[in-house]
Amino acid sequence: MRKRRVIHWFRNNLRLHDNASLYRALKNADEVISVYIIDSCYCENTVIDAPRMGPFRRKFLIESLLDLQRRLQIAGGQLWVFEGKADEIIPELALKYDAEAVYCQAELDPAELSVEEKLEARLWKYRIRFECCWQSTLFHLEDLPFPLSNLPKVFTDFRKETENHVRVRDVYPTPEHVPFPFGLSGNELPLIALKGQEPQGNNFYAGGESNGLKRLQYYLWESDLLKNYKETRNGLLGWDYSSKFSPWLALGCLSPRRIFYEIKNYEEGRVKNESTYWMIFELLWRDYFKFVHKKHGAQLFVQEGIQNKNRKYSEDLNLFKLWARGHTGVPFIDANMRELNTTGFMSNRGRQNVASFLVKDLEINWTWGAIYFESMLIDYDASSNWGNWNYIAGTGNDPRKDRYFNILSQGKRYDGQGDYVRHWLPELSAIPGGKIHEPWKMCSRELSGMGVVLGENYPHAGIVIQ
Ligand SMILES: Cc1cc2nc3c(=O)[nH]c(=O)nc-3n(C[C@H](O)[C@H](O)[C@H](O)COP(=O)(O)OP(=O)(O)OC[C@H]3O[C@@H](n4cnc5c(N)ncnc54)[C@H](O)[C@@H]3O)c2cc1C
Repeated sequence: MRKRRVIHWFRNNLRLHDNASLYRALKNADEVISVYIIDSCYCENTVIDAPRMGPFRRKFLIESLLDLQRRLQIAGGQLWVFEGKADEIIPELALKYDAEAVYCQAELDPAELSVEEKLEARLWKYRIRFECCWQSTLFHLEDLPFPLSNLPKVFTDFRKETENHVRVRDVYPTPEHVPFPFGLSGNELPLIALKGQEPQGNNFYAGGESNGLKRLQYYLWESDLLKNYKETRNGLLGWDYSSKFSPWLALGCLSPRRIFYEIKNYEEGRVKNESTYWMIFELLWRDYFKFVHKKHGAQLFVQEGIQNKNRKYSEDLNLFKLWARGHTGVPFIDANMRELNTTGFMSNRGRQNVASFLVKDLEINWTWGAIYFESMLIDYDASSNWGNWNYIAGTGNDPRKDRYFNILSQGKRYDGQGDYVRHWLPELSAIPGGKIHEPWKMCSRELSGMGVVLGENYPHAGIVIQ
């Protein structure tokens, strides 16, 4: 009897566990061809002259694909990686290998949606079925207690209407077998397109489902860090003040539902407290921005934002570059930007401050900041990044008008002893004469030399030495 063969197209769901589209593919076929497409746009340059996908994310993606390949092989499968356009490559493959259907994860980005539409149209011509599964959030889109058009404008209302009313669907089991067509062979993953200059700096974040699951195990069970998450989450230095799940979540190496049910197990087996609740609370923020993205589409990415607010910004590229490189002269900002440039990561507290500083103090076009983050962040996720930038720029879902982060008081509050600033700006420690005090007050002359007036909050005090 002829075997039923389908294609599973991996997108931002680079895992075997809790993978609805892979599960559906396996359920409806005897053989599955797994593919991943490296879209050439990943390597394009943006308006601020930074590649869309910078070195940290590229490296993480390569590691994730290699891990997926390994895991598929253990299950008897293979991963084929191609470079190009999915809507052209997948129909060709489907015809050549006689696949009767294509399965994938539903994405949100307007560019990805346009690929989906074109792909669906091409496959339809050949009577090949196309199925996109919603699976990137805790709550399933179809389980929301309101139509997407009525998504609450602020997060708190969304949370209240969902958290105790919507059930997180069960995770899909990890398949033991992913049968690959007999006679076809695997290939070396052609990851050349993604290769580039190796990022310098630490190697803490290694991509892939295996490492994501290890981090989950470590953060909950091995270290018990979860039980103090609420107290530590505003930290700045080190790996353990927050979960660091974000890079694995962004590429789908970890499923949010898997994290949710692991937290539930932890609550039963170890402790249930404000911290365990708060981790779920943060995952709800992630969900919220995904639904905001789904609702507003391309509007999320324009200067006017989802509120369609008109405001004039500066487009001073030199000043922007000082910000991006971490040379503004304001240590709390510079330290955060240098951490980002060295590791691809920045704490949530840091992100809020550097974003606010760019928009509210330097008054520079906030979309440049978001584009820079897209290039540099190892955990770049279109919904979370652009949703948060909208929020901080005052064009998004912030209920408070004109929220302002006072960098000096933020630095004082979260880096009172200056440990963080000294870590990323070692030149400060090298100043002869001794210890630095009140590091949050420091501001070198570099920025004032650019003729920028920062106002009263940033006196150009020079470097203060005790
Ligand atoms: C300007 C700006 C840009 C951002 N860009 C991104 C991005 O591209 N990708 C990204 O994953 N997060 C982004 N965030 C959100 C947040 O900073 C990171 O998710 C968080 O710092 C990741 O570290 P963690 O995994 O240790 O988080 P934890 O504190 O351990 O939180 C657990 C998880 O909850 C989710 N989460 C926490 N805070 C937020 C938030 N504010 N918005 C959405 N989800 C949240 C993340 O998935 C995170 O992994 C951005 C925030 C700001 C202010």
